[in-house]
Amino acid sequence: MINIAIDGPSGAGKSTVSRAVAKMLGYIYIDTGAMYRTLAYKALKLGIDISSETDRVDAMLSDTVLDIRHAEDGQHMFADGEDVTAFIRTPAVSMGASAISAIPAVRSWLLEMQRSFARENNCIMDGRDIGTVVLPDAGVKIFLTASSEARAKRRFDELKEKGEDVTFEAVLSDMIKRDEDDTNRACAPLAAAEDAVIVDSGDITFEQTVDKIIEIINNKVGR
Ligand code: C5P
Repeated sequence: MINIAIDGPSGAGKSTVSRAVAKMLGYIYIDTGAMYRTLAYKALKLGIDISSETDRVDAMLSDTVLDIRHAEDGQHMFADGEDVTAFIRTPAVSMGASAISAIPAVRSWLLEMQRSFARENNCIMDGRDIGTVVLPDAGVKIFLTASSEARAKRRFDELKEKGEDVTFEAVLSDMIKRDEDDTNRACAPLAAAEDAVIVDSGDITFEQTVDKIIEIINNKVGR
């Protein structure tokens, strides 16, 4: 199987770019951030204070069935049979996902699921630790990044389009906080793998980013 790892900070365009590249190559796209978001959504719904009640998060894991299904409109996330896709992109769930992802038991709970997708499918998987921890042998590794302002602007526009009541300043400060937490956590921090190709999406269009990534993939694995 051919596996492509795309890591990077939030808002760099990983998911839209990965989805487009996967479609062009006929690969499956796996958004691992959505897995953390789904667990955070469930934890918040149960009233768990994720940062301080790690034992409750642990107990929740043993009572959770997480499922990913691929439909025409993209990846859908299910928690205990409920499609939660529409609820996992709010700012509260974003912060919750960052907090829950720092818990080692959560990461190991998801690891085998992530690896089994890669064993069974040609796939593009995006996240923070795909090239470093989840798929260290991936045939292609890309680290997609951009300045925090460029990333916050993109995320702000997305949230506004969905009708969320947010300010640019709040989105930017959440993003900086999340980047810091993701980069500084002890377990599987956000990092570029040594053999990753760094792509800066800040000054180029979406189409140019997709073209660049396709070119990197073609150079590494051919088609
Ligand atoms: O990519 P996305 O913004 O949806 O991810 C939500 C959160 O999940 C991130 O802020 C990060 O803390 C966490 N995450 C992670 N490892 C991954 C994917 C996401 O820690 N592979």
